Amino acid sequence: MNEIRRLCEDVANKVAAGEVVERPYNVIKELMENSADAGADRLSVVVENGGVGLVSVTDNGKGIIPDDLPLAVERFATSKISTADDVYRVSTFGFRGEALAAISSVSDFTIRSFRKGYIGAELRIRYGEKSDILPAPMQEGTRVEAKALFANVPARLKFFKNYQTEEKEIARFVRQFSVINPHIAVELDINGKRVYSADKTEDMCKRAKKVFQETDVVTGENEFEDMSVKAAVTLPSVHKFRKDMIIIGINGRVVKDASLTQAVVTAYHRLIPEGKFPAAAISLQIDPEKVDVNVHPTKSVVKLLDSREIFSFVHNSVKMILEDAGRETGEQMRA
Ligand code: ADP
Ligand code: MG
Repeated sequence: MNEIRRLCEDVANKVAAGEVVERPYNVIKELMENSADAGADRLSVVVENGGVGLVSVTDNGKGIIPDDLPLAVERFATSKISTADDVYRVSTFGFRGEALAAISSVSDFTIRSFRKGYIGAELRIRYGEKSDILPAPMQEGTRVEAKALFANVPARLKFFKNYQTEEKEIARFVRQFSVINPHIAVELDINGKRVYSADKTEDMCKRAKKVFQETDVVTGENEFEDMSVKAAVTLPSVHKFRKDMIIIGINGRVVKDASLTQAVVTAYHRLIPEGKFPAAAISLQIDPEKVDVNVHPTKSVVKLLDSREIFSFVHNSVKMILEDAGRETGEQMRA
């Protein structure tokens, strides 16, 4: 008789769930990133009661083969990597195969999907208890629905008394995602109200103007060695924003990076008052081998090799865009 036991799958999933999906906002993030990985260019997000009541994401991506549905919700099951080395090369948002396992262990969960050439199918999992796969009508893509989130983890549920705070956080993330991925059309409904919608566009500046609700936005692109950046930033004359309107995307994924945020802020040095902030969308493409996305369970924080180089690249690119804009407005004034 041993004293140390392996946790059964169901228990292990629930423990892991606490790390991957701390809150409804993380659920939305994981589901939207899955949709982007599946090549979707349209997605619709529905939220009720702070996401604790319902979170659903529907996409028009490539869908899942019916026989793969049980695997999609298993821990460490993924279609995105197969060897340990792949972890360092991965360019998709997900790869650890943890999100759906985690979400389905703490919610009344349904995934319905259609892959071309197969029939549409649905799998329901109530707090880790899998049902049978059933045929389900579906034209395209995938819909994931998580109801009554954390109902089996009362201690966690207690944290979400204030639905509004969570809804704000979700709306903020959807907008951030939408600037970094302008080629994806996005709709967000919260408690039956359309809170945000954006058509797909190739023009990040257009998307940034919409998200910032500001027209004085300038844009530019830059390249250095194997890095490239597309940026849309507000003119120094507008500085009414909070720091969280400085949106950083790395290889299409929204990340939180205090250093890169600072790289943007310092590019405005002497141009805007101390303690005031611009709005910015910085979409970086970096060799995936230089980005370690595996440092944090929710993957919102990444570790960058050559972080100094990337800092300077972002800083200089934003400065360049502002200088170009300054020159143009200066010329206009002289003309
Ligand atoms: P990961 O994204 O890390 O691979 P997930 O648990 O998020 O892990 O998803 C598991 C697998 O399910 C994915 O690798 C993918 O094959 C499939 N999948 C999940 N969501 C979608 C989706 N919206 N469209 C198509 N396939 C999906
Ligand atoms: Mg994923």
